[in-house]
Amino acid sequence: MLDPALPAPPVLEVDLGPGVRAAFTTRAGGTSPAPWDGLNLGLGVQDDAERVLVHREAVGRWLGAPLVFGTQVHGTGVRVLSGEDRAARSERGAGAETCGEYDALVTAAPGLGLGVLVADCVPVLLADAGAGVVGVAHAGRQGLAGGVVGTVLEALVAQGARPETLRAVVGPSACGRCYEVPADLRDEVASRRPATASTTRWGTPALDLPAGVVADLRAAGVTEVFSTGICTLEDHRFYSHRLATRDGVTTGRFAGVVALG
Ligand SMILES: [Zn+2]
Repeated sequence: MLDPALPAPPVLEVDLGPGVRAAFTTRAGGTSPAPWDGLNLGLGVQDDAERVLVHREAVGRWLGAPLVFGTQVHGTGVRVLSGEDRAARSERGAGAETCGEYDALVTAAPGLGLGVLVADCVPVLLADAGAGVVGVAHAGRQGLAGGVVGTVLEALVAQGARPETLRAVVGPSACGRCYEVPADLRDEVASRRPATASTTRWGTPALDLPAGVVADLRAAGVTEVFSTGICTLEDHRFYSHRLATRDGVTTGRFAGVVALG
């Protein structure tokens, strides 16, 4: 039987300002067997859905708030969640799986956790602690090229945030020295996001998605931009879709999470 009261897992906490709780999860603290091996938070990767929801509840316990995730479609859609959504989400199980097809979430409602699921793509956590607004974004190759950083910033500003008082953290993701791609793909993405052009450690074409996210944030006037500096292909505390694919297996998803206290 699954333990419905799985303790809050150890996480990599990040500082997004006073009154904001934010972190990246790792594999630690979960119950999924191999190939997910730990705290898988992703549905749709063949893991047991009930077990995944128990994991999400445990992370919500650390956050002090129920967690909401979107179904990520490598797009630029943003959902703004309200206090009403928090009330609905507080009923156990309601909305636990997804709030719809969105790659970014924003809220000004305290006590509502926002999550973004990744395994190599870039998780971005944002907060304007003074204005009381937080957000998350899933910035993979397509979402970044399409402008998801800009759309989540627009939604944050519409809720009262200002770029100059926003703080952003770029989380664990495939780094520009590991994320090998064909030359034409690098050129296509770099034509839209020049900061992403990179070369692998072994000298072949690559994309640096975290650098692209940082460049978009700075171009929009966000000055407090931090990075965990962690590469998911090098640090095995985190899930990596690329490494799993290379091994011919599926894998889990870890999360970036944020909530206003
Ligand atoms: Zn790397």
